Amino acid sequence: MGKVEFSMENVNKCLCTVCAVQGTSSCVKDKLQAMQEKMSEDIDIASVIEPSDIPGMYCASGKTSCDDLYFHEECKCVECPVFKENDLMSGEPMGYFCRDGMAR
Ligand code: SF4
Ligand code: SF4
Repeated sequence: MGKVEFSMENVNKCLCTVCAVQGTSSCVKDKLQAMQEKMSEDIDIASVIEPSDIPGMYCASGKTSCDDLYFHEECKCVECPVFKENDLMSGEPMGYFCRDGMAR
């Protein structure tokens, strides 16, 4: 278990989906589309979605399974409410959780 709770509330706050690191990733695009399809069905999303299905919340779930991210762009985590609420500035790694693993 990491420091950050994996909840739909936090998923909605996560800025990874608008982060340039992921902006050109077709793997991320596919995951987003699959997620949106599940969300449009009238089901309890939390019961059908796995953390690895969500292209974000890496501070809670760890490294991405996609291999086409562009790490030369800037990580948005420091601007994220989840980052502030969980005081991730004082932990490790300090952002780029998609590359370096979950917050500890
Ligand atoms: S963890 Fe940081 S670098 Fe990775 S997608 Fe999220 S905001 Fe971007
Ligand atoms: S701190 Fe980064 S990985 Fe965690 S929820 Fe915010 S944007 Fe997503």
